[in-house]
Amino acid sequence: MAKRIEDKCSFCGRSRNEVNLLISGINGYICDECAEQAKLIVDEAFKQAKAKSANDIDLKKLPKPREIKEFLDGYVIGQDEAKRSLSVAVYNHYKRIMQPKSEDDVEIEKSNIIMVGRTGTGKTLLAKTIARMLNVPFAIVDATVLTEAGYVGEDIESILTRLLQACDYDVNKAERGIVFIDEIDKIARKGDNPSITRDVSGEGVQQGLLKLLEGSKVGVPPQGGRKHPEQKLIEVDTTNILFICGGAFDGIEQKIGARLNTRSVGFATDDKKVEVDRNNLLQYITPADLKKFGLIPEIIGRLPILTSLQPLDADALLRILTEPKNAITKQYIKLFKMDGINLTIDEEVYKLIVDKAIEFKLGARGLRSITESIMMDAMYNMPSEKSKNLHITADYAREQLAKANLERLQTA
Ligand code: ADP
Repeated sequence: MAKRIEDKCSFCGRSRNEVNLLISGINGYICDECAEQAKLIVDEAFKQAKAKSANDIDLKKLPKPREIKEFLDGYVIGQDEAKRSLSVAVYNHYKRIMQPKSEDDVEIEKSNIIMVGRTGTGKTLLAKTIARMLNVPFAIVDATVLTEAGYVGEDIESILTRLLQACDYDVNKAERGIVFIDEIDKIARKGDNPSITRDVSGEGVQQGLLKLLEGSKVGVPPQGGRKHPEQKLIEVDTTNILFICGGAFDGIEQKIGARLNTRSVGFATDDKKVEVDRNNLLQYITPADLKKFGLIPEIIGRLPILTSLQPLDADALLRILTEPKNAITKQYIKLFKMDGINLTIDEEVYKLIVDKAIEFKLGARGLRSITESIMMDAMYNMPSEKSKNLHITADYAREQLAKANLERLQTA
């Protein structure tokens, strides 16, 4: 006969009548207190492993700049220059995070980025796509809602609230995330002179932002908005957060043009004369132009990577419509496919959509709403009908567009 194991906890040795609960296993017992203790040990071990994995980014696994650019190519059309600088900056940023502490005196500095380009040329899309590739928390914030402490609007620190929300308040993860600050040009100082009066949404906000960009520990209100005294704040270290700023900087082309004009027809690099492309002056942008526009030098210094985006021509718009991995037309094909409907679109329809986007000055943003206007009737009717084929011709598209009020989209 097998020897009976005594009814006592195999961990602390207490017997059944000394504990609240004794759980039996194949070869022993565990009491409630030891089980709880074990749970605490397991939790702590997991927590440490998680913190370690957040700190361990493997350089070998990190996509190289060329791979980052290739990934971007799948989603963003054109903008090669911006893609290249962004890929290098992001790669260096993560190398910087991984740099061994104080092996030598060389410390890689943060490479925050500023992208200048007209609205709807892909600035947000680029930042979003990079974050998707790296699988790091990502937040988009609009600089226009930010104001100096004490004024109506949101505190600068609320920028980080969005990032915390994007990773379920996992501070460790947030501290390695990417923040895209849109419309950075809207907090420019009005005019080139330092203001004498208080500037609610200008210089004061830039000063506040500086603190975040350069890397410091800040108290973040968990729900965003304004901080108030009795609120518990979450401490976030911004040292390893990558900030990407974007702005249209309306009117900056004139400033660039004026600067280039002072150098006769072209400008010289070494001994070559380069013709200035007057149709795309943004490509010649320098930090000095940003200063003229009203960004304070300290902010410009904290955004060392300056890159510009090209205006999108008809050709680029046509490609945007069909080429990216989640191109608009691919999305409609998928939508109809879910109802078993096979959607085909004539080449001419694409040209028509692009022409309308240009005519109504809607840019890339307009492509979707124009396509939606063309598809609306079919999306409403087809799921209830027997026909399983939908073929969109240019005539049909024109008919649908005539019904839609595209002017309405202009102000939207
Ligand atoms: P921005 O931030 O420059 O104002 P977005 O990145 O928000 O512009 O672009 C708006 C929309 O237009 C995007 O969601 C995307 O559908 C489309 N788009 C703009 N530029 C491009 C591009 N270069 N390639 C692909 N799609 C683009």
